[in-house]
Amino acid sequence: MGIDLNLSGGPFAAIDRAALRHNLQVVHTIAPNSKVLAVIKANAYGHGLIPVAQALNSADGFGVARLREAMALREAGVDQSIVLLEGVFSHAEFDAAARLNFEIVVHSFEQLDALETWHGARPLSIWCKIDTGMNRLGFRVDDFAMAWSRLNACKNVQAKPRVMTHLADADERADQRTSRQIERFNSLVRDLNVERSIGNSAGTLAWPEARVEWVRPGLMLYGMSPFMNSVAADLNLQPAMTLTTPLIAVRDVRAGEQVGYGGIWQASKDTRVGIAAVGYGDGYPRHMRSGAPVLIRGHQATVIGRVSMDMIAIDLGDKPVMVGDTVVLWGKDLPAERVAAFADTIPYELVCGISQRVAMSYR
Ligand SMILES: *Cc1c(COP(=O)(O)O)cnc(C)c1O
Repeated sequence: MGIDLNLSGGPFAAIDRAALRHNLQVVHTIAPNSKVLAVIKANAYGHGLIPVAQALNSADGFGVARLREAMALREAGVDQSIVLLEGVFSHAEFDAAARLNFEIVVHSFEQLDALETWHGARPLSIWCKIDTGMNRLGFRVDDFAMAWSRLNACKNVQAKPRVMTHLADADERADQRTSRQIERFNSLVRDLNVERSIGNSAGTLAWPEARVEWVRPGLMLYGMSPFMNSVAADLNLQPAMTLTTPLIAVRDVRAGEQVGYGGIWQASKDTRVGIAAVGYGDGYPRHMRSGAPVLIRGHQATVIGRVSMDMIAIDLGDKPVMVGDTVVLWGKDLPAERVAAFADTIPYELVCGISQRVAMSYR
């Protein structure tokens, strides 16, 4: 039969650089007058921080959540703007941000106090975050005037801080709450003559008013849809990650027998069952329900029974497949959006959850 030597290698995430670049181009087409802050936090949503930054080097800047992520980018020679979306908190972190030329979000009075008492070598480039309804980070609307005047008076702040807000419901098309957030934001900053940023992926795709001087797409760059009941192809996006793994065993299970831990799946008839080398140790969620789709040789088959640490079981039906065949878990031809629904989650969590053990390749 000639079993492939790679069989014991387990799952493999193939990242398509051309798809990443295509998706960035889609952002430019949708928001032609906006600069793009490509959000690559969380290891570029599991796609690999440095390779993704390199593939998206035509972006106007990169957004990350943590100082550590930003430092890794600079160490790798990425010299674009890097924005720390949650900002920093201590004087030591301000020092690092100044040394490595990071832009920082200031969203709270604690950060503002720290910034004012910092003896910095040079002023920092700042984004002032306003809370227009998300109630996560940002100055409240009533506090903005105070925060803004303190920021502009602070010697540690470069001239012309930018302003930003984050939408809580942008994935609900035509939801009044989003219009209200955008109106609140614009009414505060209208006369300031500064650069603004509003939209994440959903905001950029669904809300023309959110396409201001800067957009901040994340998920769509990786080729996934932020909307329920919609997949990348509907938005002309291309999945950048395809997760595959080999089929390592095929067995005949008789009617009445159970499969996997706990026997939560029992054969109602004689069934050909395949075992694929992926499990929750790789980031394939343990709570994936029976019925979740996989693709083998272009045929759709379904996951059955409980996901183990290193393996899943698949009802092969009468598909002509055999040990050594490649099983697609999500990606091209099998949208992560669809798979995520079977784990009661969103595609963000699937791709971010890929573990260290998964081999990555870039083409
Ligand atoms: C993660 C994040 C984004 C990107 O969101 P997507 O939904 O992935 O497009 C944008 N802005 C902020 C502040 C974020 O934290």
